[in-house]
Formats: sequence, structure tokens, C-alpha cells
Amino acid sequence: YRDISENVVYKSHNAFNRKVLLPVGSVQSVARLYEQQKELSQSLNAQRHSRSVIGERIRAASQDTALKQAALEDAKKLKAKIAELELQVAEVEEQLFKLAIAIPNDTHPLSPIGPESVAETLSSHGPPPLPASTSRDHVSICNALDLLDLKAGATVTGSSWYYLKNEGALLELALVSYALSIAIKHGFTPVTTPDVVRADIARRCGFQPRDPLEDPATSQMYHIDGSSEAPVTPHHHPGLVLAGTAEIPLAGMFANHILPSERLPIKVVGLGHAFRAEAGARGADTRGLYRVHQFTKLELFAITKAEGSEEMMEHLRRLQMEIFEGLDIPFRVLDMPTEELGASAYRKYDAEAWMPGRGGWGEISSTSNCTDYQARRLHIRYQRSSASSADSPSSEQSAPAPLPFAHTLNGTAAAIPRLIVALLENGARFDDFGAVLSFIHWLSVLMTYFQPP
Ligand code: AMP
Repeated sequence: YRDISENVVYKSHNAFNRKVLLPVGSVQSVARLYEQQKELSQSLNAQRHSRSVIGERIRAASQDTALKQAALEDAKKLKAKIAELELQVAEVEEQLFKLAIAIPNDTHPLSPIGPESVAETLSSHGPPPLPASTSRDHVSICNALDLLDLKAGATVTGSSWYYLKNEGALLELALVSYALSIAIKHGFTPVTTPDVVRADIARRCGFQPRDPLEDPATSQMYHIDGSSEAPVTPHHHPGLVLAGTAEIPLAGMFANHILPSERLPIKVVGLGHAFRAEAGARGADTRGLYRVHQFTKLELFAITKAEGSEEMMEHLRRLQMEIFEGLDIPFRVLDMPTEELGASAYRKYDAEAWMPGRGGWGEISSTSNCTDYQARRLHIRYQRSSASSADSPSSEQSAPAPLPFAHTLNGTAAAIPRLIVALLENGARFDDFGAVLSFIHWLSVLMTYFQPP
């Protein structure tokens, strides 16, 4: 709240640049309410102090009935006053929380300002893009090779649900193990994640799972039936949702942690399913495998000290380039502009692969430095190293500074359906990406992982 209160002009302007629609005057309201909260908390503390003084008066007056009666009267009045102040503090905090949670993260000074069209291309890779041609359409290729069953998906679940078959299914496993082996080589710890998460954890990561009963058309998350009970408190929502990305369970794994500084950076790579309601999605994007409701995704996730996140962002970018270059597809890396950053990203790099059958570039990965946005909401802090705390001016007179919030980053290592689209439309051959490769990869990964030091 202090950070927002001290930077009202920047926060309002930044939300505008990011096209985050805040209720009019809400940043100013946070500043005003924060002052109010501080004043109310001060008087509450003062009244609580008076209560302890009255407690002593009551004890001291144990023999004197009149004095004791007067003290008891005062104690009663004070109790009512404290209860009233507690209520006021809770109300102000509830309003503060509601307003502040909607304010997006700050933005990197180099991020382009504006819509998707002003994204800056940072680098281009792979072979030259092939001419666009409908003969390279991935759905036709899948049908010819019997790799995909969309009809069964529609019967069993609905449109944009699918089965991968034959080499299609093996390709998913091969791609997962291929990308996983590269992530492990670069020091990422492999993790499998729960696909169902608390709505509250998703919200703290910057996703907004709306109440499905209130607004089903705009919710991008699937809610588990029967889990949308009323919140217990404004800070605690018991509902469960299907994870839209493993970033949520991976970040949640570290919620309420104080990490020793020697443990940082933490690098994990999570394998999970991503579920997307894709409300409002129509047209060519929903054809075939490009925009589906469920997909297997391997996700990189890192926690760093505040000063380490920009370097980690570059580490993630290099690692992703290694994965995609190994697939021999044309792709480019973009520095995404403000309107594409969502709530949590300070900076975002997307990779797009050329998809000649679709006749355009298609996003295959997204990497975000969320700085302390998620860590503040999930309470992820770290202990300063002993050297830096000795330098700090805290000392005997002043209270020790609060522990710093960590920075979190996430990036796609492999979003399987989009990689399959890119591979098929660019003409990858199955003898490159067949079952054999998949199992050889698994073996080599396991062997490197369990090698004695
Ligand atoms: P996001 O978390 O939205 O940045 O998505 C991460 C990656 O998942 C994107 O870069 C895409 O490659 C892929 N992706 C996102 N949404 C879908 C979808 N509905 N169907 C298939 N792949 C998707």
C-alpha cells in the first residue's frame, strides 16, 4: 500500500498504458485509505494500551469497591470503543485490498508502449520461413497421418477438445522429454504439479478467476462445480479452479516461505496440464490444435533476489531459444508492449513460430518477469545474506527493515499443441521426433540426473 501511495501518478499512468481498467480514482483512494488505516491502527493501539492500564487499575482497586466499579465501567466503554475501531480497521483494509489487488505491476522502462502491433522483434532464428500454403495446414496433415481425433473430443467433451493418436501422442511425450532434458541440463528441478488450484492462489498470482455464477461468459478459468461458496473473508476464497498454467501451482509451492538467500535463485520446471475456457475465442484460431481447452505444458519457473530477476529473464530467454532452435523451425522473439503484459508481468518476451499452413506467426511461448508482484501477494520473502544485513543501517535505534520480497519469473518451455502445429506445418519428419527419440531422451535425462556427484 505504501508503494502505491507514494507513486500515485506513475501507478495511474501505468495502468492506463497497460489498458487495465481501474475504477476512476482508485489509485488515489488507495493512498487516502492507507492514511486512514494508519491513523485508525494508531488509535487502536493506543486504546489497547489504555485497556492494559485499566487492567492494572482494576487489580490495584481490589479492596475498594467504588474505585473498582469505576474502573470496570471504564473498561466496558473501552471494550466497546476497541471493538468499533477493530471493525473500522477491518472495513478499511477490505476496501484497500479490493482496490490494490486490481492495480497492475510496474512496467520495464524499455517495454514498448501500446498494443500488440508495436511489439519489438529482438531476434529471429531458424530456417527462412516457407511461403504460406493451405497444403501445409496442420489439420489436413494430422488427418492424413491419423494423428488427431477432434470428432471424438467433441463427442466426449466438446469443441476444441481433442485426442492425439499414434505418432501425435508419441510426439507429445518426445517434446516433453526433449524440453525437460534441456531445462534439467540448465539446473532446473523437475516437478509435476497439481492441475487443480485454489482460486485464491490463482488470484494472488495475478489471474482473476471471477465467480462463475456471476459472470460465466468472461471467466477464462474453469471452476470446479460446487466450489464457489461465498468467501470466508475478503482475503480467503475457498473455491477451486483448473490451473490455466503450471505457473500457478509452481508459485503457490513457495507461498508463505522465507527463503534463505543462499537458496536463491530457485529454478523449477513443472509439467502440468493447462486449462483455458477461451471465452469469446472464435475463427481460425480455434481450428485444429492452435487454440484448445486443455494442453500439456512444460513451464519454467524461477525465484530470485530483487537484483537478480533481469539476469534470470535473459537466462530463460536463452534456454527457450536452445529448445526451439533444436526443433529447426523459423521463430522470432518479441519484447511485448504494455497492453500485452496482463496484471503481473513487469516485462514479457514472447516467441512466435512461423506456421505456413495457418499463414502467419503463432505464439509458442511467453516469458514474464513478475518482479515482486506475485511474491507480495503470496508472501514469498528472503533473508538477506549476512554480509548485506551487516551493511544495512538498521542497528539498535531503528526497527529492523522488513525482509525483502523475492522476484518470480515464468516462461513456457514447451506448449505441446502449438509446437506440434509448428513442426507439422514446417515439415518436420517423424523419424526426427518419434517414439525412439522420446525414450532415449528419458534414459539420458535419468542417467544425468542420478549420476553420483
Ligand atoms: P500463456 O500462459 O497464455 O502465455 O500461454 C503460454 C503458451 O501456451 C503460449 O505461448 C502458447 O504457446 C500456449 N497456449 C496458450 N493458450 C493456448 C490454447 N488455448 N491452446 C493451445 N496453446 C495455448
